[in-house]
Amino acid sequence: MSSDANTPVLRNCIRLPLAEDELLEVTAKAKDYAIMHGAAMRSKTAFSPDSLNFAPFVLVPSSFPRKEFDKAVALQPIINRLMHNVAHDEEFITTTLAETIKVDEFTANLFNIYRKVLAHGFTQKTSLGMLRSDLMLESGCPELSPRVLRTAAGADGGQDAGAAVGQRAGAGVGVGVVGTAAGTGSKQEEQQEQKQKEKEHREVQLGRATKERERRATGVHSAYCCWKQVEINTIASGFGHLGPASKTIQRFVLSELGHADKLHNMPDNNALAGLCDGMVKAWDIYAKPQAVILFIIEDVSYNICDQRFHEFYIRETYPHIKVLRRTLTEVHRDGKLGQSKELLLGSQEVAVIYFRAGYEPGHYHSQAEWDARYLMETSLAIKCPSIHYHLAGTKKVQQALAQPAVLERFINDPEEIKAVGKIFTGLYSLDDNEAGNASYEMALRTPERFVLKPQREGGGNNVYGVDIPDALKRMSRVERSAWILMDLIHPPLTKGYMVRPGGDMPPQIVDMVSELGIFGVVIGDAEHIVHNYQAGHMLRTKLSTANEGGVAAGLGALDSPYLIDSDDEDEQK
Ligand code: ADP
Ligand code: MG
Repeated sequence: MSSDANTPVLRNCIRLPLAEDELLEVTAKAKDYAIMHGAAMRSKTAFSPDSLNFAPFVLVPSSFPRKEFDKAVALQPIINRLMHNVAHDEEFITTTLAETIKVDEFTANLFNIYRKVLAHGFTQKTSLGMLRSDLMLESGCPELSPRVLRTAAGADGGQDAGAAVGQRAGAGVGVGVVGTAAGTGSKQEEQQEQKQKEKEHREVQLGRATKERERRATGVHSAYCCWKQVEINTIASGFGHLGPASKTIQRFVLSELGHADKLHNMPDNNALAGLCDGMVKAWDIYAKPQAVILFIIEDVSYNICDQRFHEFYIRETYPHIKVLRRTLTEVHRDGKLGQSKELLLGSQEVAVIYFRAGYEPGHYHSQAEWDARYLMETSLAIKCPSIHYHLAGTKKVQQALAQPAVLERFINDPEEIKAVGKIFTGLYSLDDNEAGNASYEMALRTPERFVLKPQREGGGNNVYGVDIPDALKRMSRVERSAWILMDLIHPPLTKGYMVRPGGDMPPQIVDMVSELGIFGVVIGDAEHIVHNYQAGHMLRTKLSTANEGGVAAGLGALDSPYLIDSDDEDEQK
């Protein structure tokens, strides 16, 4: 879906294919290694609480440009701060979600909790954010890499690169949101100026996409030139264990294949420790030695290793801190507030709540689960995420943030604004107004450029390319505002072996694309941030023909980055 015949290919970390006997042997060994190191999941087809399958994985690490990886890591604390500020901006959240909550019941339910908590005042002012910013390399971006500039010398390369920089620096408008820049002119002038900006913004977006299509048609490509954010997760950001575990498997495989000399190109990944230490820092802030950390879980946790390892890490590293796992239904049954609004489960006081469920409608079987969520929100416990953080992670908020004038509301440093502005690809409102209706028309005209997203998490909810017109036409004008439209990102391909439970032995070489997730931890209240750090990463890789790559959903595979310094020098040995 996100690739075509012209899609460039990143060079591999080692020469493939492997000889068949070597491949068979190392794959069998790696499968066992994966299970025995907890790179595993419960089977959906043959579920048993007593057994695990290895999680699908890519045999050798997929290449990723070092420069872009380093950039993503360095940017994460800025993104953390951005999201923290967004979460604490009541006016922005309210304005941005105003149309969406009229038609999206799930977001409206979350927003109602937010509204009620606002009305009574926050019992707990500190929030724990454990975020994951997901991104893909963009091979079709107008900001050309040096390689394409060389390849396309004499063509439109240099000119276009300049134009792209100009576009980024200049245009843009906050559609449907309240900006901070105080205008000096009359209301009418402001409105006219706003309209003009919106028009320019749309033209710029359209121009950019046209250039991109031309380039793809002429076959002039870099393997990458930058990366673009797919989404930012503020709830249940998974793979804190499976991210590092993927590196462990692939490090073993590379060593078995005689490439131990290459291991230094696999970056350290301390995601599990970074995230769990975040929970413990929040527990410290709560400052009650007997209080526990509560994980909110689904009725059945298929992705069990990615939760139990968090629990075990905390228990082993901080044996004085107890961890409980409860569903929303159980919290409704057993939970109550104490005299100081502390959350009590039986006689146990909860210091920190870590939501690994509660992000999709299916987790709320009845009003009981919504009541449990509200109970927790009104309690003294520190939530990950608190309701405002959850709302800040909606796709609608991401779309609003991508309008260039908007970032200035949350970030002071112009360099940081520029850096964050660059990570957004085109994101368009579908609200029932002039801009939203223009996006709607654009989607009908050129659906192959886009992905259509509702306010949902967890994969499998988006509509891609040619399916978009039918989906949009089935909606009323107002229903469209529950969705956003986004430019498709075109990541470069990698080639490798994907190993799945029950899959071919030996596995075949397939074309794949990867999505990198960078974890961040941020703790603070509306006035102060007390902790803010980047906390490791994860890489998920899917077949290039698949729209989505959820590992738990069976479409993606565990992977980890092999950092390369240039996409055009061949170092394969
Ligand atoms: P969810 O909250 O369900 O994870 P995402 O926005 O992450 O929603 O989309 C799910 C998947 O769809 C991503 O992991 C990615 O594989 C694919 N995807 C989403 N947005 C884009 C995009 N703009 N370009 C290409 N692929 C995308
Ligand atoms: Mg996602």
